[in-house]
Amino acid sequence: MIDSPLKVLIIEDVPADFLLLERNLRKNGVAAEWRRIGNDAELKDALQTTWDVVLTDFHVPGMDFRTTLLCIQAHDPDLPVIMVSGSVGEETAVELLRLGIVDFILKDHLARLPSAIRRALVEANERRARQAAEIALHKLAQAVEQSPEGIAITDLDANIEYVNESYLRITGYSREEVIGQNPSMLHSDKTPKSTYDALWKSMAEGRIWQGEFYNKRKDGSEFIAHTIISPIRQPNGCITHYVEIKEDITEKKLAEAEIHRLAYYDTLTGLPNRALLLERMAQTLAMNRRVGHHSALISFNIDRFKTVNDAGGQTLGDTLLKAVGERLTHNLREGDVVARIAGDEFGILLSDLALQQHSAVHLALHVSEKIHASLHEPFRLGDECITITVCLGIALFPESNEDSPLDILRRANTALHHSKTKGSGQTAFFEGSLDEIAKQRFNIERELRQAITSGELRVFLQTQVDATGKTVGAEALVRWQHPQRGLIPPSAFIPIAEESNLIIEIGIWVFTEVCRLVAREDMVACPMRIAINISPRHFRQSNFVDQIKHGLASTGADPTHLTLEVTEGVVIDNINDVIAKMSELSSMGIHFSMDDFGTGYSSLSYLKRLPIHEIKIDKTFVQDMTTNANDASLVEIILSVAQHMHLRVVAEGVETAEQAAFLNQRGLVIHQGYLFGKPEPAEIWMARIKE
Ligand code: C2E
Ligand code: CA
Ligand code: CA
Repeated sequence: MIDSPLKVLIIEDVPADFLLLERNLRKNGVAAEWRRIGNDAELKDALQTTWDVVLTDFHVPGMDFRTTLLCIQAHDPDLPVIMVSGSVGEETAVELLRLGIVDFILKDHLARLPSAIRRALVEANERRARQAAEIALHKLAQAVEQSPEGIAITDLDANIEYVNESYLRITGYSREEVIGQNPSMLHSDKTPKSTYDALWKSMAEGRIWQGEFYNKRKDGSEFIAHTIISPIRQPNGCITHYVEIKEDITEKKLAEAEIHRLAYYDTLTGLPNRALLLERMAQTLAMNRRVGHHSALISFNIDRFKTVNDAGGQTLGDTLLKAVGERLTHNLREGDVVARIAGDEFGILLSDLALQQHSAVHLALHVSEKIHASLHEPFRLGDECITITVCLGIALFPESNEDSPLDILRRANTALHHSKTKGSGQTAFFEGSLDEIAKQRFNIERELRQAITSGELRVFLQTQVDATGKTVGAEALVRWQHPQRGLIPPSAFIPIAEESNLIIEIGIWVFTEVCRLVAREDMVACPMRIAINISPRHFRQSNFVDQIKHGLASTGADPTHLTLEVTEGVVIDNINDVIAKMSELSSMGIHFSMDDFGTGYSSLSYLKRLPIHEIKIDKTFVQDMTTNANDASLVEIILSVAQHMHLRVVAEGVETAEQAAFLNQRGLVIHQGYLFGKPEPAEIWMARIKE
C-alpha cells in the first residue's frame, strides 16, 4: 500500500492507454491524483507543481523523449521517472536507464507497475535523505573547520585524530606535528592538580568537563585556555572519541585583572586602595567573630606633607608617596595590608594580632614603632634627600558585634587626630586608656631587655617530692629582682616577653643558670632532675637543639639531671619537627614534661606520638579535685592514661594534706606545691636538700 494519495504525472497521448493505467493503479490500491499531458506546453505547465512520480510513454507525437527527460530532471533531479511503453528494443532500454529513468515496464505487463512505483518512491526518499544528511554534514564540517575556537578530536587513547585551523593558530603547531600526539603536549606545570583531578573524574563518569588550563604554545609562550572536553557517543551509547574545544582567554583574563586592579588599587603607589582595605577589614571582622582575635587598624599621614609639595612640586610629592608605600610593604609582615586611603593618608591593617586585648595593644604599638623607625630613615628621591615624620592613630577591633569597617576607619582617624595634637611623630590609640597600658608594657619590655644583661633575673627552685615526702627534684621558676620595684613575679613579665624574642633570651639565660647549678660539684652526685620551662616560641626556633647543646657544653652539665617542660602550645606546630627535636635531645638523656596538662588542646593521640616522660597535672584541677566531681574524674583519667603509657605524673599546686592524700590513694604521683615548699632562691633549696 502507498499511504497518502500519490501525485502521478502521466505523459500519454492515447486516452485508452491512460485509462488502462489508471484502472490498473486503482485496482492495485495505489490511491493517486492524476494528470495526463500530451505535449511540451502541458509538460511545462504541469512541472509548476510537485509530483511524486512520472509515468511516461516512449512515443508521444510531437515530444522528443530525451528532451522530456532532461526537462523533468532540470526541474527536480530526484523525481523518479518510470517508462511505460510498448517494446523499444534492448539497446534503447539500456540507454534510457542510463539517461536516468528508474524503471521500464511493458504495457502488456502492467501488473508490475505498483511495485515498481513503490520501489521508485522508496529509493527517491532514500536519495533525498542521503543528500540532506550530506548537506548537513558539510555544513557542520565547515562550522567546525571555521570555528574561532580550537577543536581537536582524539581517540580513546587521547591520540589526536583531527584538529581545525584555529587549534593550529592558537597552539602554533602544524597539523603534522599534532596529529597522533596527546593533547597533554600543551600542558604547562601551572595548571593546578585539582583541575586534572576534576577532569579525570568527569571523563571516568563519561560526563562533559569544562575548565581552565594553563597551556604552552610551540614557542613556549603560555596562554590560558578555557577548555571543554566531551565524549562522542555512538547511538548505542558507546564512547569512541573525545572532542576538545579550546578558547584562548588570556586577553580576557588580563582585561578582567586590569579592571580589578583599577577598582581596588591605587594607580600612583600600586597599593590597595580604600575600597580594598574596607573589604579586607570586613573579612577580618568575620574572622575575628569566629576565632576571637583582636586586630588593629593603623591610620597615618605624613607630617607637613604640604611643604614637600610646595617646595618640590607635585612630582616630588608623588615620588615620596610611592617610596613610603614601598618601604612600608617591605618592612611589614606579608599578611599585613598596607593601603593608600587618600592623599598622604595611609592605612595598615594588622589582622590577627592576639587573643588578649592587652597583648594586641602591645603588638600594635610594636608595629607602630617599626613604622616610625622605618619611615624615619631619609628618603633619597633623585637629587633630593627628604626626612619625614608621621603621626599614627590606632583603632583596635572588634569593639562590639556591630562594628563595621567604616566605624573602625573613623575611629583610627579620630586617633590620628589625637596624635597630631600631641605634635609630630606621635602615636595615639582611639581609647586614651590604651595609651597608658601600651606605655607601661613598652616600659617593661625596655627595662626587661636591660635586666637580662645587667643580671637582675633570679632562678628560684620549687621542690618536688614523692609520696613519702622525699625530695626528688625541683622546677626552676624565674623572678625579676627589680632595683626599685623589688621581686617581680613571672606573671608580670613573661607574657610581655613572650610577644617578642625576649622570651628566647630569658629561656637561654635560665637554662644556662640551671646547667651551672647541676654541674656544681656538690650537685653532680645528687640523682635529681631540675625542670626548666620552655616557651613554645623558643622551642620553635630552628636552632633550639643547638642552643641546648651549647648550654650543656659550656657548663659541663649532665643532661640526665635536666627536664624540659613544654606546653601543648608547641604541638600545634609541625609535629614532625617537634618529634625530631625532642627525640634528639631525649637520646642525650634530657627528659620532657608536658606542662599544664588538661588545659590546652589535650589530645591523647598526640601525646602518644611524642617522646615525653612526664605530665604535669595543672594546678587548677588539683585545687578543685577534692571538691568538684568533674575535676576529680579528670584527674583520675589523667592518672590512668599516664600509668598506661608509663609516664611519670607531677601534680602541681598541692596545697593541702587532703589533696596529697587524694592523689596518693590513686597512684604514684610526684607532688609540687606550697604544702611542700614555695619557690625559693636556688641557693637555699640546694643547701636544704644536702642536709
Ligand atoms: P608554671 O610552669 O605552671 O609554674 C607553676 C606555677 O605554679 C609557679 O608560678 C608556682 O609558683 C605556682 N605554684 C606552685 N605551687 C603552688 C601552689 O601550691 N599554689 C599556687 N597557687 N601556686 C603554686 P610562678 O612561679 O609565678 O610562675 C608562673 C608561670 O610563669 C609558670 O607557670 C610558667 O608558665 C612561667 N614561668 C616561670 N618561670 C619561667 C621560665 O623560666 N621560663 C618560662 N618560659 N616561663 C616561666
Ligand atoms: Ca612549669
Ligand atoms: Ca602549670
